[in-house]
Amino acid sequence: NTFVEIDLGEAVNQNIRRCKYVKPTPVQRNAIPILLAGRDLMACAQTGSGKTAAFCFPIIAGIMREQELSCQIHDEAKKFAYQTGVKVVVVYGGAPINQQLRELERGVDILVATPGRLVDLLERARVSLHMIRYLALDEADRMLDMGFEPQIRKIVEQMDMPPCGRRQTMLFSATFPKEIQRLASDFLSSYIFLAV
Ligand code: AMP
Repeated sequence: NTFVEIDLGEAVNQNIRRCKYVKPTPVQRNAIPILLAGRDLMACAQTGSGKTAAFCFPIIAGIMREQELSCQIHDEAKKFAYQTGVKVVVVYGGAPINQQLRELERGVDILVATPGRLVDLLERARVSLHMIRYLALDEADRMLDMGFEPQIRKIVEQMDMPPCGRRQTMLFSATFPKEIQRLASDFLSSYIFLAV
């Protein structure tokens, strides 16, 4: 019955220790895992029950998870694009957009993006997806758990056929439930199925 058992991530756990919260209150213990799993919630809890943290912690952890994943992909792509002339840029939500816009303006070959921030950039007309030749959707099951299916569909809808005539799409997911099967049949054409 500790915060560490609730998987909020190391940075949040450190902040919790710094604030001297030793163990989660009942509403925190019960609500946080539900919220981390992406479920909606109606909770009855009094003032003083610790409900503020019960919804703040999973929101922070959720945003961090999103940022972390895009940064991991960015780091890996950047390592292997080193001195190749292939330019990799990352954009993600929960961080100031202005610096990301400046990066984009300098040109980009590979854009690593979280779905929410990418839709934002599309709506501001700061990104165009018309020339996209390769599309990789990573951790598709987690993106769906986080409720990003509308954003993903919106992003893919904005992609025309590139001038070379075809786009290669790759979908990665830890699980292959109905919803991912639907994405695969909507986004991929005569695809090869691989399970390892
Ligand atoms: P709330 O129910 O959100 O109004 O929180 C009531 C008070 O309890 C606030 O002052 C919080 O700082 C404090 N608090 C919330 N969670 C914990 C915890 N797990 N351990 C100790 N104090 C807490």
